[in-house]
Amino acid sequence: ATERTALFMFFGGTGDLAYRKLYPSLFNLYHKGNLRSHFAVIGTSRQTLDDEKFRAAIKKSLADSGERADSKEASDFISHFYYQAHDVTDTAHYSVLKELADKLDKKYKLQGNRIFYLSMAPQFFGTIAQDLRSQGLMSDTEEAFNRLVIEKPFGRDFDSAKQLNDALSKSFDEEQIFRIDHYLGKEMIQNIEALRFGNTLVESLWNNRYIDNIQVTLSEKLGVEERASYYDNSGALRDMVQNHIMQIVSLLAMEQPVAFTDTDIRAEKVKALRSLRVYNVADAATNFVRGQYGSINDQADYRHEDNVPHDSTTETFVAGKLLFDNYRWSGTPFYIRTGKMLADKFTRVDVVFKKPLVDIFAFPQAPNAPLAANVLTIFVEPHAGFSLQLNAKTNDALFQTEPIKLDYLVDAEKSKETPEPYERLLHDVLKGDGTNFSSWPEVSYAWKFVDQIRRVWDLQEPQFPNYTPHSMGPAAAEELIQRDHREWVYRL
Ligand code: NAD
Repeated sequence: ATERTALFMFFGGTGDLAYRKLYPSLFNLYHKGNLRSHFAVIGTSRQTLDDEKFRAAIKKSLADSGERADSKEASDFISHFYYQAHDVTDTAHYSVLKELADKLDKKYKLQGNRIFYLSMAPQFFGTIAQDLRSQGLMSDTEEAFNRLVIEKPFGRDFDSAKQLNDALSKSFDEEQIFRIDHYLGKEMIQNIEALRFGNTLVESLWNNRYIDNIQVTLSEKLGVEERASYYDNSGALRDMVQNHIMQIVSLLAMEQPVAFTDTDIRAEKVKALRSLRVYNVADAATNFVRGQYGSINDQADYRHEDNVPHDSTTETFVAGKLLFDNYRWSGTPFYIRTGKMLADKFTRVDVVFKKPLVDIFAFPQAPNAPLAANVLTIFVEPHAGFSLQLNAKTNDALFQTEPIKLDYLVDAEKSKETPEPYERLLHDVLKGDGTNFSSWPEVSYAWKFVDQIRRVWDLQEPQFPNYTPHSMGPAAAEELIQRDHREWVYRL
């Protein structure tokens, strides 16, 4: 592994995300040699802690994530961690951080490279970015890099996202900003590009002549848990569709990039999103449906979750039809759905091919079931792999066909070696590779599309609750696809 040199500064450094994901991921990068001696980490938050207590918390975070926290390797790693209490809204206080950063830069020979990771409430992103520049925390040497990593959500509609982006752009250029969408760190999402652009068999059929429809499902089994107060303000459309689903769809829909670089890939994703049809009021109302879980008996009911108002109209489920107005996809819809408290926890993409134009096996003398469509399924999680459904002859004297499956599932041993999304994404930030992050144009097109759905929904009081827990959503999600004489590939 190539050793990288950087100072990490984690804002919200005592938060849940930092302890649960970010520090264990950094440790994996250390273990693999991407980080060795020339790195340091400053954790900062409002909490009062000293280095010793912070390091003990890091040790616990490693232990909790299953790492050998007692090893010499772990204690060497932890010795690079420093803590500085700091209220991000207090401009004067940034000088203390600057002093510590400069000191660590000398001590570990960090060459001025800085990564600022904002793992806290988004209302602070703009202020922090501005103070980082105005208070001199960003390096100004030519060779050094300054990179800003920010967590979701990026705004709650196009206007607020633009405001946030304008604030960030005062201090950081677009190529210095890494907007996290952790779905882009997932192995099988990255594999979409390999599958498409590495296989003639796939890419030559990847268009409206051979593909009937594409389905993307992000299904969650749990309810809102302890995120209720955030979630009730956001809902499934903002929380899952605007970011993760739009990113997955753009990878599925884009043209082949000129080269496998962040600039070229982003250019194609943006182009795809530009040809996504933004619905007018009538089309938004017919092409998108929403749901909220609840039931008459005493099972889980969204409106009775802690911190959810009893009359909440927040959607916990969305299904929709997306249409691209371009040569490749015109006439081939993308159906998407996501929700909480559904039957199972999984993410998958089903690519449904068109049936042969003529079914020569369906002759009256020897009745045969109609041919099934070929379906290519990309299993993203919990199991990673592909499955291709083909028609073959049954193994008997009659000439009958049946659908069979060619499966490739990543085995458990191998998937243990697969880096966690956050490890991959932190590694990308260290390399300065923006491929697996959302660029501003992508974010803005996604908001413009989603805003239009929201606008229509806000005009009408929904009939909630409308789906039973552990189902696959409301009846309207079935009607949405049945209306087009199709069905969801994954059904109960
Ligand atoms: P958290 O509430 O656990 O942590 C917030 C951190 O910010 C704490 O360290 C707190 O001390 C600090 N903080 C709050 N106000 C401050 C102030 N004025 N000055 C300095 N520090 C202050 O939050 P989290 O769950 O770790 O989430 C962080 C970010 O990551 C959020 O943007 C969230 O939307 C996003 N996110 C979290 C998860 C997750 O699994 N937890 C997943 C995806 C995205």
